[in-house]
Amino acid sequence: MKLGIVGLPNVGKSTLFNAITSAGAEASNYPFCTIEPNVGVVSVPDERLSVLSKMFNSAKITPATVEFFDIAGLVRGASKGEGLGNTFLSHIREVNAIVHVVRCFEDDNIVHVDGSVDPIRDIETIELELVLSDLEMLERHKTKTERNARNDKSLRPYLELVGKVKENLEAGKMVRAMDLTDDERKELRGLGLLTDKPVIYVANVSEDDVSDSEGNVHVKSLKEYADRFDCEVVTICARIEAEVAELPEEEKGEFLAELGLAESGLDRLVRAGYRLLGLISFLTAGEKESRAWTIKRGYRAPQAAGTIHTDFERGFIKAQVVAYDALIRCGSLAEAKAGGLVRMEGKDYVMQDGDVVEFRFNV
Ligand code: GDP
Repeated sequence: MKLGIVGLPNVGKSTLFNAITSAGAEASNYPFCTIEPNVGVVSVPDERLSVLSKMFNSAKITPATVEFFDIAGLVRGASKGEGLGNTFLSHIREVNAIVHVVRCFEDDNIVHVDGSVDPIRDIETIELELVLSDLEMLERHKTKTERNARNDKSLRPYLELVGKVKENLEAGKMVRAMDLTDDERKELRGLGLLTDKPVIYVANVSEDDVSDSEGNVHVKSLKEYADRFDCEVVTICARIEAEVAELPEEEKGEFLAELGLAESGLDRLVRAGYRLLGLISFLTAGEKESRAWTIKRGYRAPQAAGTIHTDFERGFIKAQVVAYDALIRCGSLAEAKAGGLVRMEGKDYVMQDGDVVEFRFNV
């Protein structure tokens, strides 16, 4: 899962991104990829892994991960080439969802680019840039499609769709808020329209408001705005996140508890991303490692095997599956087998969150 962090200058993006990189999953878990400076990788919190690692005597735990992309530089006029302009907008095309950081903290020492704290105005500023960028790209696409449609009548319905989306964008509407059928959305997907990406708003509040943001009027108006578009708001204090990230693992819980928090904001953000994108985790466990793998809800067994290795998907024979809860109740894999709770599933099996799996395949 790739999440892109956007927001106006001075809202707390770098503070949050720094927290992400210091909380960062261990580089040793990524032997095959170099981590770019604008990418932070964090673990998906999952208590099931430590339980499994004890049961299987695993040498290590490898959690599922989320990549955060720091997409700094979005300012008013970006779609017209201001700031880092279009190069930067193109980075947003690569991500699965947008994390839009919004300033909800008052602090006279920290200048706001537009002179005052106003989450809705800020959001509209950024979202307008995204709409304009989509519009520009769609205009080009429409001209090209019109040309092709002259010789190919079958393209006409698609051309109509493109025209409809263009009109809606001109009216300031984002693609994700447009009234489109699933099929229409599928047809548009290849274009990578920025306003089609799902979004999570992050309300960055002050240290005082983090455990109880009820009284914060900015958070309140942000939530009302987000509700209208069926979006989620995650309230965090970026400064606290930065502090938590620096702490040794065993001290984090206590520090958060003192602030009246059950979980770090980063963990809540990662969970929100999972929900938003319809993701689940399946698990593998053995002496080598206990590990979580991210898949889309609805994936079948061979697709899930393919996330481990493409050969596993190609050579898929069957999957040995036991639900995590059932396995824990039984106390061991042998007991679960004896109790008939370990199933052999074929290629049509739809994976469930928490399935503990061993794939059988031909190489
Ligand atoms: P960016 O331009 O969006 O990357 O913003 P920064 O992360 O650089 O933050 C801008 C300023 O706001 C810095 O001085 C931060 O220390 C401050 N800041 C960020 N988050 C918070 C917060 O939660 N509370 C307060 N009081 N200040 C914050």
